[in-house]
Amino acid sequence: MADTYDIIIIGTGAGGGTLLHKLRNSGKKILVLERGGFLPREKENWNSKEVFQNERYHTKEVWKTAEGKDLHPGTGYWVGGNTKVYGAALFRLRERDFEKVEHAGGISPEWPLKYKDYEPYYTEAEKLYCVHGKMGIDPTEPFRSGEYPFPHLSHEPRIQELHDHLVHRGHQPFYMPIAVKLNEADRLNSECIRCNTCDGYPCMIHAKSDADINCVRPSLANDNVTLLTGAKVERLVTTANGKEIDYIEVTYNDEPVRFKASIVVVAGGAINSAALLLKSADDNHPQGLANSSGQVGRNFMKHLSAAMLGLSTTPNPTKFQKTLAVNDYYWGEPGFAFPMGHIQLLGKSDKDQISPDAPAITPGFVLSEMASHSIDWWFTSEDLPVPDNRVQIANGQIHLDYKVNNTEGFERLINRWKHVLGEIYTGHIFLDHGIYLSKDIPLAGVAHQVGTCRFGTDPATTVLDIHCKTHDIENLYVVDGSFFPSIGAVNPSLTIMANALRVGEHLMDLLG
Ligand SMILES: Cc1cc2nc3c(=O)[nH]c(=O)nc-3n(C[C@H](O)[C@H](O)[C@H](O)COP(=O)(O)OP(=O)(O)OC[C@H]3O[C@@H](n4cnc5c(N)ncnc54)[C@H](O)[C@@H]3O)c2cc1C
Repeated sequence: MADTYDIIIIGTGAGGGTLLHKLRNSGKKILVLERGGFLPREKENWNSKEVFQNERYHTKEVWKTAEGKDLHPGTGYWVGGNTKVYGAALFRLRERDFEKVEHAGGISPEWPLKYKDYEPYYTEAEKLYCVHGKMGIDPTEPFRSGEYPFPHLSHEPRIQELHDHLVHRGHQPFYMPIAVKLNEADRLNSECIRCNTCDGYPCMIHAKSDADINCVRPSLANDNVTLLTGAKVERLVTTANGKEIDYIEVTYNDEPVRFKASIVVVAGGAINSAALLLKSADDNHPQGLANSSGQVGRNFMKHLSAAMLGLSTTPNPTKFQKTLAVNDYYWGEPGFAFPMGHIQLLGKSDKDQISPDAPAITPGFVLSEMASHSIDWWFTSEDLPVPDNRVQIANGQIHLDYKVNNTEGFERLINRWKHVLGEIYTGHIFLDHGIYLSKDIPLAGVAHQVGTCRFGTDPATTVLDIHCKTHDIENLYVVDGSFFPSIGAVNPSLTIMANALRVGEHLMDLLG
């Protein structure tokens, strides 16, 4: 006999954790299954060698590339999912991101819902995750029904100087929307201490808003919510007619267990959710569950992204650097009428963070000097959905096929920004791709994974309907990054969270 619930949510990241929070007061009996545990609070949380070189918080799972090579994915399995280590830059997609957009490398498809449909949920998600920002500066900012719930985070002096130079030259840098618990007017009583161990690190003092701290833990106060950690869902099993999920098979405490629910929500992240549907193939669904369209696992996107160390003779003592972003080239530039992408500051790097990308012979003191004199940048451009960029399962193992596309605008963006910065600072030196300390993020960097179960109105070409219910199976939903028809160029999590709130509202209506 399997324990029975109203709703089972598989995964507790930006999608699953946010959905849980939305449903927690519904009175419904909710079971949350998370393969990971709570991320430990320990000194290593803020040790960059442990975090970036030893990949302490990444899974040890090995996937395969299309070429059959081992892939060590930069992803973690924890309560809160990848929001435990994210940079907490919570952006809304732009209005035009929901439309069909012509890129230099092809077409970014239209979404079945539009920005106006998401606006109220973006507002709700920004409140839930305590986002700081300031409206009216970003030239590409979409319509907002109100100001950010919390005031923008100030720039430290070196970044303020950079900001002022940019403005002086006609650029429009804006305050990064950031999800932390900080009151700059009362720093003594604030949780966030504006440290340099935020972007990419777990927050040891729980001052970063993530799906664990802001959503899962508060929900556990409710008697109707049960969380099982270390509970890996292995397979979804359908009823004899194949139209519903009958029960799910879970490995919990090394034992096989079964659970049943009226509604099953898969929220394992775009790669693992697709993998779970494909692994659950049965006689009624030989290509995998919810896969009559053949689209499950396809159209995987992860952004074209690059990190760049901007070296200068001037020291950069900034601690919390992630306060500035630029969208001046989001939709292109004179002479290039195609989208280029988004620019933001990274968390401040240190020598242990940059050393894996430096030649092994580089002495430690050189790395320290470089880190202390650099401003660290992050570029993201849109990769387009391509059917052959896909998640597959072979012998139970995840295979990830991915070829980059749409690179012209991306390369142009990085070159343009080097040029802009070069004009600002005399004596400014940039180390370029292939030299060292500036690099395109490789396939293992699956941080921004989306698109593997896209939503839409046509069951022949999409996996999910507009409520993120699978077209094929009546009680099966996918509520994480999988649903994106296109990725846009800003960070994806706020859209995943907003969508989870939207689907949560639908589920509450449905369950009454
Ligand atoms: C270093 C880093 C920095 C980032 N910075 C930003 C940023 O600044 N802004 C931004 O918007 N985004 C950022 N991201 C991306 C962001 O973390 C993801 O977009 C977001 O977490 C995805 O949410 P999700 O719900 O789709 O998946 P996840 O957050 O990955 O959650 C999936 C959950 O499902 C669980 N799970 C998977 N399979 C199973 C299974 N079979 N059984 C049970 N549980 C399962 C996993 O353990 C995990 O908890 C960053 C990511 C990384 C890694």
